[in-house]
Parts: sequence; structure tokens; C-alpha cells
Amino acid sequence: MKVLVAVKRVLDYNAKPRVKPDGSGIDLSSLKMSMNPFDEIAVEEAVRLKESGIVSEIVLVSIGTQACQDVLRTGLALGGDRAILVETDLPVQPLGVAKAITAVCEKERPQLLILGKQAIDDDACQTGQMTAALLGWPQATFASSVEVTSEYATVTREVDGGLETRKLTLPAVVTTDLRLNTPRYASLPNIMKAKKKPLETLSAADLAVDLAPRLNILKVVEPAARQGGVMVSDVAALIDKLRNEAKVI
Ligand code: AMP
Repeated sequence: MKVLVAVKRVLDYNAKPRVKPDGSGIDLSSLKMSMNPFDEIAVEEAVRLKESGIVSEIVLVSIGTQACQDVLRTGLALGGDRAILVETDLPVQPLGVAKAITAVCEKERPQLLILGKQAIDDDACQTGQMTAALLGWPQATFASSVEVTSEYATVTREVDGGLETRKLTLPAVVTTDLRLNTPRYASLPNIMKAKKKPLETLSAADLAVDLAPRLNILKVVEPAARQGGVMVSDVAALIDKLRNEAKVI
């Protein structure tokens, strides 16, 4: 069985984002970029399915600039077999990405598509759902456990009220939640081997998809700086402030 895993290159979660002076977006120059953490979990899940003998091939896909090759190579070092870069210099948005992944699925015909539940840069949480809709495949989002047979995926999902289990007929789409697994680190020999694994570059035209952004970002601003706290002398002073200044009681 073939599995396709979507991996996005995002600002590293330890890096501090800086808003561009003109408010048009985040200035990414000279900041560390990495694989989206939920996508590391997606790659790990695919690798575990391969180790258990159910999956025979793991194909990674990323949509973005040439720079995305680094996260694809990381995914190959973690256990991916080959990678596809859908190269574009346009800003990528969930609908365009969903169309590109749909076209790659139509070409590659995987039995399972695994994505992260959300990208930590846009926090959209839309791509998996849109891709499942475009493909007409069943989906289970926010997975905390995945079991796969040749015909079905049984997925436990984290929902507000607890855990929900769904049985999906393959091919299907799964998006990963934080507790699905703990991703491994790539070993040095595997990082070296990954350099020789196949990485194919396709354009939007090759896949006949339109990646043009549909959403206009009007303005990006820094969060307001937090004001310092005040010490109050006693409970009466606290109640006075809550009643007369904050007006919450
Ligand atoms: P989002 O809907 O933007 O929050 O992203 C959800 C998931 O879709 C991510 O965790 C990735 O698995 C996948 N994804 C989003 N954008 C891309 C991209 N440009 N390339 C590859 N995968 C992506």
C-alpha cells in the first residue's frame, strides 16, 4: 500500500516572528524554517505503518518554493521513500494546496493520505478537509490513533467530548493530532542516504492546477504588548478594582 504525506515548510516553532514594517506579512528572512510539527507526526505515522508491514511506499509532497526541498529531504531522512515538490513562487493557501495535493493523489493513487491537522504558520486547519472533499474520499481529522488494514483505516479522533472512533473505507484522508505519536530524530546515516533518494519537481502547469491565492491579507500586526501587573494590598482593594476599573463584577 502506498501512503502520501503532505509536509509544509514553516517558520520554526522556536523562532520569534517579526511583522514586516509595512504590515503586509511576516518577515521570514534569516529566520529558521522547519517541517510543520504536525507533519513530522504524519511522517512518523507513515513510517510506523511501513515498519509494521502494511505500507510499502511513502511518498512525501510539499507545495512551495525550491526552498521546500529541505523539509522534503528531512522527511526522506525520517523514512520517506521519495518526494514530490510542486514548485510555486506564489503565496500558498489551503485551497490551492488542496487542489495540488488532489492532483498528486490522482497521479500517484495512494491508499492513504496523511496531513497535519494544521500548519503552525497560518493555523488554517483546512487543507486536509478541502482535499478530502475534492477527492471525494472519507476523512478522519485530529487522529490520536490509526490502525490500517488493506481495506479500512480505523481512526480514533480527539473531539470535545472525548474520543470518537471512525472506520474509513480506503482510500482515505487522515489528519494528525499531537498525541498520535512522538516523532523520531533522523540519524546521520539516514540524513546522508536521504540525499540520494528521488525528489521530483513538478509545476502547477504539469498538474493543471491553479495555485493563485484567493484570500487577500489586509494587515498583519504584532499582538498588543501586555501591561505590567499591579499588586493590591488586600481583598477589598481587589474587589474595588474588579468592580470599578475592570467592571467585571
Ligand atoms: P493548514 O490547513 O494550512 O492548517 O494545513 C494543514 C496541513 O496541510 C499541514 O499540516 C500539511 O500537512 C498540509 N499542508 C498545508 N500547506 C501545505 C504545503 N504548502 N505543502 C504541503 N503540505 C501542506
